[in-house]
Amino acid sequence: MSRLDLFIDRMVSQRACLDHAIAETAGLTGPVFELGLGNGRTYHHMLERIEGRDIYVFERAVASHPDSTPSEDALILGDVTETLPEAFERFGPSASLVHADLGGHNREKNDIFARKVSPLIEPLLAEGGIMVSSDRMYFQSLTELALPKNAVEGRCFIYRR
Ligand code: SAM
Repeated sequence: MSRLDLFIDRMVSQRACLDHAIAETAGLTGPVFELGLGNGRTYHHMLERIEGRDIYVFERAVASHPDSTPSEDALILGDVTETLPEAFERFGPSASLVHADLGGHNREKNDIFARKVSPLIEPLLAEGGIMVSSDRMYFQSLTELALPKNAVEGRCFIYRR
């Protein structure tokens, strides 16, 4: 499989999983957390698709497309290993949807990081809240869900409280 194939699978899976999770959590009012802004494509997608919920972006260094750059009050700047525990103090277990796309090119490093941040993400989710991730996560109390149509196994993971 070429890198182009992998990239396309990841993009298609992100969109399918996000759309599914947005629909599944439409009845919840809690905030949405985007972990890793990057270029801002998935953030922009969520802005377009989510109504009536605040969306906060966690990022250590903003370098996004101007159309996809959050306002200051929607940005939680810093390393997620520090800002996620602070977010729990601020928001409690209220998030309706968390999307994480924090990884880089090194799969082993991504897995180590996923193990590190899983216990920081887990308490943030409200009852019925959904977490979508590009990496497998390591949760104690969340249930892994089947992927929606069009998503590719291994390219995206979905969990629900
Ligand atoms: N989903 C994004 C999009 O559609 O454009 C791409 C996200 S990009 C793959 C990953 C982002 O996560 C990078 O911008 C990086 O700076 C951020 N990131 C990685 N590790 C982080 C950390 N420990 N704390 C905060 N941000 C982090």
